[in-house]
Amino acid sequence: MPVGTNAETTSTLAETARRDYRELVDAGLSFDLTRGKPSPEQLDLAAGLQELPGAGRPTAADGTDCRNYGGLQGLPEMRALFADFLQVPVEQLLAAGNSSLELMHDCLVHALLSVLPGAESRWAGQERIAFLCPVPGYDRHFSLCARFGIEMIPVAMTANGPDMSEVERLVAEDPAIKGIWCVPKYSNPDGTCYSDETVRRLAGMRTAAPDFRIFWDNAYAVHHLTDERVEIADLLAACAEAGNPDRAFVFGSTSKITWAGAGVAFFGSSPANRDWLLANNSKRSIGPDKVNQLRHVLFLEDADGVRAHMDRHRALLQPKFEAVLRIFDEELGGTGLAEWTSPKGGYFISLRVPDGCAKEVVRLAGEAGIALTPAGATHPHGVDPDDAVIRIAPSYPGRQELEQAIRGLTTCVRLAGYEKRLA
Ligand code: PLP
Repeated sequence: MPVGTNAETTSTLAETARRDYRELVDAGLSFDLTRGKPSPEQLDLAAGLQELPGAGRPTAADGTDCRNYGGLQGLPEMRALFADFLQVPVEQLLAAGNSSLELMHDCLVHALLSVLPGAESRWAGQERIAFLCPVPGYDRHFSLCARFGIEMIPVAMTANGPDMSEVERLVAEDPAIKGIWCVPKYSNPDGTCYSDETVRRLAGMRTAAPDFRIFWDNAYAVHHLTDERVEIADLLAACAEAGNPDRAFVFGSTSKITWAGAGVAFFGSSPANRDWLLANNSKRSIGPDKVNQLRHVLFLEDADGVRAHMDRHRALLQPKFEAVLRIFDEELGGTGLAEWTSPKGGYFISLRVPDGCAKEVVRLAGEAGIALTPAGATHPHGVDPDDAVIRIAPSYPGRQELEQAIRGLTTCVRLAGYEKRLA
């Protein structure tokens, strides 16, 4: 190939991208792809909740008047409905308020202030507390660590979950490492599902800290986007089998099943951890919103009801994910400028652009009226050392809006990418 051809081609491609970008800015778009929120149509799927629990006294199966105080562990029928999905025995599961993030927050606060089962002292009394943070990961996990002065140690994600050799090495040698954040199914933002081997190694690894906890945020346990309903191994059972029964804190919620702001959140763990959380929670609440739990049971009915409801979400979400992937393919396929994930579930697609370009792509998109999650949000302290990962959240906008926004985004990727090649 004659010298110069590549550079000339790149400068032609950059010129086209500059022209396309000017047209994009002139179009005056205003789109928001920042957060993984359910769309109004998805929320409408649970409109039946508005009529429930209906007239008359809202009474649970055991005769509890749901309007009154009490029942700190949550309604047994609500716990029974989600026990299998979350892989937690019903007696070890709590049904709580509307947000699992709140439960994660509270678990950190309680561990800082009260001695965990198996701990020598509470975390607040210790010089240094650190958590392993698989990256890319969920920004709100990292915000919680930052809030409480917990050091964050990034660990790379692989196709099977976190790099387990690195995790095992770190937790074995550093007693200040007290936990790891995991989104084990359809992870935020990569859509990764942890392999059985990863689950087995997490459950059985030797940790220098006697009070090490896996924060198992199973936020997308039933959020499938394909016919394959991915199953992951049962962490709680694996921990018990490995002789580490208190290692796992399991979290989940119906935020992206029914209503994101008015669902039900869950915590599951060993009997000792359950009792520890209940004892601490009993100081902050006399009981959760059981009326909301009851109406969820009446609405979803049983496991098949949950599956059927999630199929209706899939019918709305899958075309949006497919549209994003199709546009990426059409506009960026073969350019060498980007790679992206094709998740089998969850809420996100992860777009990887050339190193040093993510912030610039997000800036260009913002100036063209397309708001994206800030580059770096997928890493501790908002800093992606490669400046390469962009999280795409296709759920909220309508199809047409989404397609326009994603096409605009690909223009920004071409512009930033070709300019970088020329630099
Ligand atoms: N965990 C993950 C991985 C999430 O992506 C989200 C929301 O995007 C949440 C937790 C929030 O859960 P909740 O609404 O139950 O607080």
